Amino acid sequence: MNPDLLRSYLAYYQDLGIKDLYRQQAAAPPERTPAIAAEPPEAIAAVASTAPAPLPSLAPAGDSLLRILEEIGDCRRCRLHEGRTKLVFGVGNEHAELVFVGEGPGADEDAQGIPFVGRAGQLLTQMIEGTAKKEGIPLEREQVYICNVVKCRPPGNRTPEPDEMEICGQFLYRQLSSIHPKAICALGGTAARALTGHKEGVTKMRGKWFKWRDIPVMVTYHPSYLLRPYNQSAKREAWEDLKKLLHFVFD
Ligand code: URA
Repeated sequence: MNPDLLRSYLAYYQDLGIKDLYRQQAAAPPERTPAIAAEPPEAIAAVASTAPAPLPSLAPAGDSLLRILEEIGDCRRCRLHEGRTKLVFGVGNEHAELVFVGEGPGADEDAQGIPFVGRAGQLLTQMIEGTAKKEGIPLEREQVYICNVVKCRPPGNRTPEPDEMEICGQFLYRQLSSIHPKAICALGGTAARALTGHKEGVTKMRGKWFKWRDIPVMVTYHPSYLLRPYNQSAKREAWEDLKKLLHFVFD
């Protein structure tokens, strides 16, 4: 990396309040790799062309969810901290084979500090457990890991701003690197954009495989979208996406 670019990265991280940087032992793979046509069997959509320039990895060797949580601390790195009650880090199995990524906490999640515990969360649980059961896969919500792109509730549940996603994204990426699941499910457009760099709507991206680094990503509708009465046909599509995802991970 050229020195000017390196200097600008360091200044950027300093502005975020990050004091420790970790050098990687070996050359790191690119953050987002171009599509490869191995597993999963369907063609993986090309991801490299529209993805933003990768930031250098901040993950220290031997990173863990506990360490990431400690480093987030009483986070004030962006304006979202101003309105939060509780920071919502993530919940579930540290060694999960499947991770679900939503957008950001809502009111119930902000109050409890746990992701997807409100109405959308109940639907997500039903989707995971109901689809698994129907497909003969023994799976409970506790066995997967669930988190969000941003860890603090955006005011009025607005969509997170790009700078908020960028700042909080470093922790999401560390969570994903640390868990290193077999697949990730991006719930809705914000998670899909954060993980794939693609800007198309969810309707176009859903049901397709993308990649975040070396991990396959399935995009589907956000459960909040499925709760709206006029989106009932999307429910069937979301169930199809989940079926595909669960068979890929657990067969
Ligand atoms: N919506 C999200 O995106 N995340 C949650 O945790 C709850 C609702």
